[in-house]
Amino acid sequence: MLLYHASKHLIAQVHSRNIPRRLLSMSLASPEAFSVEKHVAIAAVRRACLVTCTVFNQLVRDRTDTLKKEDDSPVTVGDYAAQAVINTVLRNAFPEDPIIGEEGADALRQGSNTKLRERVVSLANNALQEDLIDGEKAQWGLGSQHEHSSEALLKAIDEGNDAGGPNKRMWTVDPIDGTKGFLRGGQYAVCLSLIVNSQVVLGVIGCPNIQIHPANPDEEKGCIFVAVRGQGAFQVTLSGTNAIKLPFFSSEKSYVLQSEESKHTNIPLIRRVSDELHLTEWGMDSQAKYCCLARGEGAVYLRMPAPTIGAKQPYEERIWDHAPGSILVEEAGGKITDSEGAPLQFGLGRGMGENHGFVATVDEELHARVVSAIKRAQLAEDPKKTKPTL
Ligand code: AMP
Ligand code: MG
Repeated sequence: MLLYHASKHLIAQVHSRNIPRRLLSMSLASPEAFSVEKHVAIAAVRRACLVTCTVFNQLVRDRTDTLKKEDDSPVTVGDYAAQAVINTVLRNAFPEDPIIGEEGADALRQGSNTKLRERVVSLANNALQEDLIDGEKAQWGLGSQHEHSSEALLKAIDEGNDAGGPNKRMWTVDPIDGTKGFLRGGQYAVCLSLIVNSQVVLGVIGCPNIQIHPANPDEEKGCIFVAVRGQGAFQVTLSGTNAIKLPFFSSEKSYVLQSEESKHTNIPLIRRVSDELHLTEWGMDSQAKYCCLARGEGAVYLRMPAPTIGAKQPYEERIWDHAPGSILVEEAGGKITDSEGAPLQFGLGRGMGENHGFVATVDEELHARVVSAIKRAQLAEDPKKTKPTL
């Protein structure tokens, strides 16, 4: 794998003198913390992206491959096969580490889903059996000598059932974050993180539909974003080349990234905040939003709890939906908290407890302005909140 933390100086040269970015690629061989984990995670995400790209090209339009999950979100063969790939790699590389994944394999075990199961098994095997590239190791279950049985792959999917918690080392997996974006050919993300004692220490996000460089729309698409605690953040192409340190881009407009789904966020409230701060809204599915922020394409990622109806409890956010994105933003120099300015909780279990809503910004000063603008927008929306608590 060709990976490299390019220096700011070199990146500036790339942009000012048009030095091809591939010349910046070199081996990341230094004995840094979580170096093995980083390479394992990149291999897992890269191969899971092979699955999702194949599924999109071959199967997405064929709706018979789409199941409905209990929570009514679409789950595709790609979701299952991508999680099978990631968990197989993690299980082989780190057999003791708990995994918290979004999908379970119960639906795949049903007799009526034989065709779907066979497709999952075939897709996962194809991705795992591809030739090794630099930085990958056969003992992670990779390469043509490993044939993974149907039962082994279903078991791997089910390995993601850990309950999480505060004092442990654990992985989070979201095989296709932004399933709706995936199905409509938009942004989606293959997401993996490592959490140690409630702190995210590594995040890897594969975004097959993100442009490699925002200023070159004709260039091929597909990036993997990587961040390690204390070591910065960078992106590589889906083939693991052309590493670029983040942030590397400065958007002329100040965008506020937000969910496309009105059920996932409070769009009118975000509009108030955007208007006050003269930000332009930019709707996007998945943790690709965090990636665009980390690159410098947007100034803010804002997610506000969608209004609840009646006595319904607010949605509890999931750690796999924010752990990788949060470290990416922080390691690119930004700041992230919940919508009240409180730190994110990754040690409470699979959910994030009282972290309702998120504010991620490119810098601290903007973060403070967004948090106070949110308070004003909430008061404007619901003046009862002005009542002092007795
Ligand atoms: P996005 O693409 O930003 O809209 O976020 C997609 C993620 O939102 C999915 O992975 C879901 O886990 C999560 N999600 C599902 N329901 C809700 C909800 N009611 N509020 C917030 N997030 C949700
Ligand atoms: Mg998700």
